[in-house]
Amino acid sequence: MFSSYLLPLGILLLSVLSLGHSIDTAAAVDFSLSRRASNIRQELGPKLSKDAVIIDAESGDMAAATKRWQVFASPSFSAVVEVATENDIVETIAYANAHSIPFLAVNAGHGEIKSLANMKDGIQITIRALNKITINEDNTATVQGGATNLEITQELWAAKKQTVSGTCECVGFLGPMLGGGHGWIQGLHGLAADQIIKARVILANGTIVSASTTENPDLFWALRGAGHNFGIVSEVTNKIYDVPDSDEWYFEKYTYTGASVDQLFDQLEKIKRDTPPELQFYSVFLNIPAIDSTQALVFMAMLYNGPASAADKWMAPFRTFNPIDIEKGSTTYPELSALTGNGINDDICQHEPINRIRYPLYLDGMKKGVPKQVYNLYNATTAQYPALNRSLMLFEGLSTQAVRSVQLDTTAVALRKFHTLASPVVTYAPDAALDQVAQDFGRELRNILHRAEGTPEMYAYVNYAVGEEDIESIYGYRGWRVAKLKTLKKHLDPENRFRFYAPIVSS
Ligand SMILES: Cc1cc2nc3c(=O)[nH]c(=O)nc-3n(C[C@H](O)[C@H](O)[C@H](O)COP(=O)(O)OP(=O)(O)OC[C@H]3O[C@@H](n4cnc5c(N)ncnc54)[C@H](O)[C@@H]3O)c2cc1C
Repeated sequence: MFSSYLLPLGILLLSVLSLGHSIDTAAAVDFSLSRRASNIRQELGPKLSKDAVIIDAESGDMAAATKRWQVFASPSFSAVVEVATENDIVETIAYANAHSIPFLAVNAGHGEIKSLANMKDGIQITIRALNKITINEDNTATVQGGATNLEITQELWAAKKQTVSGTCECVGFLGPMLGGGHGWIQGLHGLAADQIIKARVILANGTIVSASTTENPDLFWALRGAGHNFGIVSEVTNKIYDVPDSDEWYFEKYTYTGASVDQLFDQLEKIKRDTPPELQFYSVFLNIPAIDSTQALVFMAMLYNGPASAADKWMAPFRTFNPIDIEKGSTTYPELSALTGNGINDDICQHEPINRIRYPLYLDGMKKGVPKQVYNLYNATTAQYPALNRSLMLFEGLSTQAVRSVQLDTTAVALRKFHTLASPVVTYAPDAALDQVAQDFGRELRNILHRAEGTPEMYAYVNYAVGEEDIESIYGYRGWRVAKLKTLKKHLDPENRFRFYAPIVSS
């Protein structure tokens, strides 16, 4: 792949010898990459719209332009194209294809899966500037591919509307949606992907197509669950919902010590089958040394889309498990992210040069005593390795009524029945000496939960997957599903250009 960018050997020899150095392959590769970057600037630049920006190591701040939520197993790029129009994406893909350069769409930069590290020295196509949101008259919105969850929530809320989007404000809107997309109101309306009515997609060969139930229906099927593998979505039109004047979210937030873990999770298990679509929970084990220097605290937010009187039946038991603190009140939908530590100003939204390795698992239930085993391992490991102290153990409980009501074969989302999404997020400042320990820690936290599920099949949400899972874990164990995705892949992306994010076909 590099060959067309390498300098003729004679020129390379001269330049290296004149510096008094021996020939060194790394230097040659570096040189070819900077040549590649300047070629991209000179050759692609004139084809782009006036507001598009090309950044490379010589012309700009690559570190800022490629900053990500976490740095473990990051992709690497020779250049960044910050597109300003849909046609800029088309031109960039055409250029990359003509020069056999890999490319990756990047929006808000929260992609975490290890397969991203297979992207080496490619072009980052930053779509963040394409973030226009238009509310249509038929209770739909047309949203460009670079919008974020915060933007969609705010824009719709101003018109007294809402839709299903991810729970964290700084995350992209489309990234979650293309893999399913879990959100606070999924119990009422389904996953984010279930809201899509049509999409405009730039395929691997650079052509723009529409996808809906009537146009390219197979692509439309694949986009909703495995979408990152099939194209760059420049825009979706999706369902939106009126927010009634009476809308409120009653919440209670509890802080517990480890002594309450068993009771807390036993109660969650007890209510899991009957929880109404209005009720969600979000729980995290977290070290707060200022409060307890040896044991994690357990934070739990219960959120109910309705008044306190309707929520009380569900929340009352949680008040009896000896919380060391309770906060309660009523709020509105746009405040839920900040309320649960997922707001734009919260720690989770700061892009730090930090490793955050997640080992997700969908849970069928909270098996007796198992969350406590997880809690104990969390404490023991963070005590032994204080550098892992900022790690999180998350349990997200999102209602599934409307999610399950969508027929399983109508979209590429394979996993719809699970109410709880568990994920250790092992967090530490980059230190190669800790990588093995950190990954073993995350794996074992997940393994404890997985063993208790009593099934060899491991179910992992595509957008949280660490990248060690089997393809079936992510895209489903029914053979036809993965087979269909692979067939579509051959047809729509025969060169496997979209292979860096949770790939259906790795190469
Ligand atoms: C803090 C945090 C909170 C999260 N919360 C939720 C949540 O509540 N619900 C949920 O479902 N998931 C959640 N996720 C997971 C999230 O769905 C994925 O990380 C998602 O890929 C992030 O999208 P992004 O635009 O922020 O990241 P990026 O890294 O920019 O995008 C990730 C990948 O998505 C693809 N992509 C992005 N935009 C497009 C597009 N327009 N067209 C084609 N491909 C595209 C690219 O392959 C890219 O590599 C969360 C992740 C984090 C880190």
